[in-house]
Amino acid sequence: MSNAEQDRWLKVQQRLKAEVGEDIYSSWFARMDLETLDGSTVRLSVPTRFLKSWIQSHYAERVLACWQAEANTVSRIELIVRSAMRGSVVTKPKAENEAGASEGVRAVNGHGGRPLSVGDPGVHEALGGSPLDPRLTFDSFVIGRSNTLAHAAAKQVAAAKRGDAVMFNPLYIHAGVGLGKTHLLQAITWAGNATGERKVLYLTAEKFMYGFVSALRTQTALAFKEALRGIGVLVIDDLQFLQGKSTQAEFCHTLNALIDAGRQVIIASDRPPSDLESLDDRVRSRLAGGLVVEMGPLGEELRFEILKARVTAARTHHPTFDVPVPVLSYIAKTVTHNGRDLEGALNRLLAHNKLTGHAVTLEMAEREVRDLIRPQEPKRVKIEDIQRVVARQYNVSRSDLLSSRRTANVVRPRQVAMYLAKTLTLRSLPEIGRRFGGRDHTTVLHAVRKIEGLVGNDVTLAEEIEVLKRQLQE
Ligand code: ADP
Ligand code: MG
Repeated sequence: MSNAEQDRWLKVQQRLKAEVGEDIYSSWFARMDLETLDGSTVRLSVPTRFLKSWIQSHYAERVLACWQAEANTVSRIELIVRSAMRGSVVTKPKAENEAGASEGVRAVNGHGGRPLSVGDPGVHEALGGSPLDPRLTFDSFVIGRSNTLAHAAAKQVAAAKRGDAVMFNPLYIHAGVGLGKTHLLQAITWAGNATGERKVLYLTAEKFMYGFVSALRTQTALAFKEALRGIGVLVIDDLQFLQGKSTQAEFCHTLNALIDAGRQVIIASDRPPSDLESLDDRVRSRLAGGLVVEMGPLGEELRFEILKARVTAARTHHPTFDVPVPVLSYIAKTVTHNGRDLEGALNRLLAHNKLTGHAVTLEMAEREVRDLIRPQEPKRVKIEDIQRVVARQYNVSRSDLLSSRRTANVVRPRQVAMYLAKTLTLRSLPEIGRRFGGRDHTTVLHAVRKIEGLVGNDVTLAEEIEVLKRQLQE
């Protein structure tokens, strides 16, 4: 494609963004690519069928108009699905239109008006269930101090029967990367679907945005309810990736509809509901209203057990693979990052062992996993902890910090707490303001600057802050 064409495409994108707004654009058009532009026909591609049919039915004319504004020779837009793009599979635009329209209808009514059940493969696909990894089951999930509660809640939810009272809804699990969220969620899905009691639908937030929501959008309100009826348990992974106002509105709608109908909702995210900055307050409080469980970092003992279980699993395919206990201990001690690195470390040992035929030794392990040994990850500091620790240090209450009181004995600690929130967490100024009694971001900025200015000259304050930092990070 020529530079001129790329340029033009950029302009069309900007125009479209300006017309539909940032949120809608990022929800639906962010992954639309220009394939070819030949004379009167523009060929655009999107990653999924749903995205295609949705854009086709809602935005075809908009997109065409944007193109025509930039290139008046264009008279036709062809929308294709990238993964299905092989060789010369080009459907005529007319046929495309029909296919697009009927696709949406098929998702709900294509089974001769029978009520939907997610068990229908067509429907499951239509609702966009994400693929599952057969290894991620309860059997392979190792329980340790950091995940006992999350595991117990997951088990309980997976074992619940249709018609049982829903105990925690939604079940919200949060943890850093590689600490087992996806493993636990998929385990619930496998276990739930194995009993056949309630259909469990597992979706990544991405799938939710690009598949589920658009499938639902083409339905009538009645069909929507019908579709939801087939879902006993909805599992959404990586909620932090859900973006866009309109998607969130759909999410809120789905969440409310399911919870009100007594269906179980399970969510995983890398942060607690209160830190999902872009979500609406109502959704946040609905999320926080169920059971919120955090999974902490994998302790050394747990890492050791996970490694041991992995070796056992690997031996079913590679019976000669053997990792001596001292090597397992060494990896458990040094590769502290997360479950993914543990898996990576073992894979290297296995590969080395298979390729060279050499037995796994401590020396070999030291060489192979050297780059996976990272410095201790700094602890995730929470704004609540900062408020608690600062309040204790200065002998004020946490609610004083959040209040609008402006007496000196409260103002300084409040500024210190805001300063620490900015320096020890990744939270934005507006988010920090919100967490400090709904203050404006400029107030937070002022506090941060104020303390930065003071610590240069005020040794006592500088020391106090050092002590607070150490308390929070240890
Ligand atoms: P997350 O979704 O939290 O980023 P994953 O669930 O993908 O993390 O876990 C990363 C890897 O670590 C996976 O291979 C997973 O099987 C493994 N893992 C994490 N926690 C455990 C556990 N408690 N028991 C067994 N394997 C685990
Ligand atoms: Mg995950």
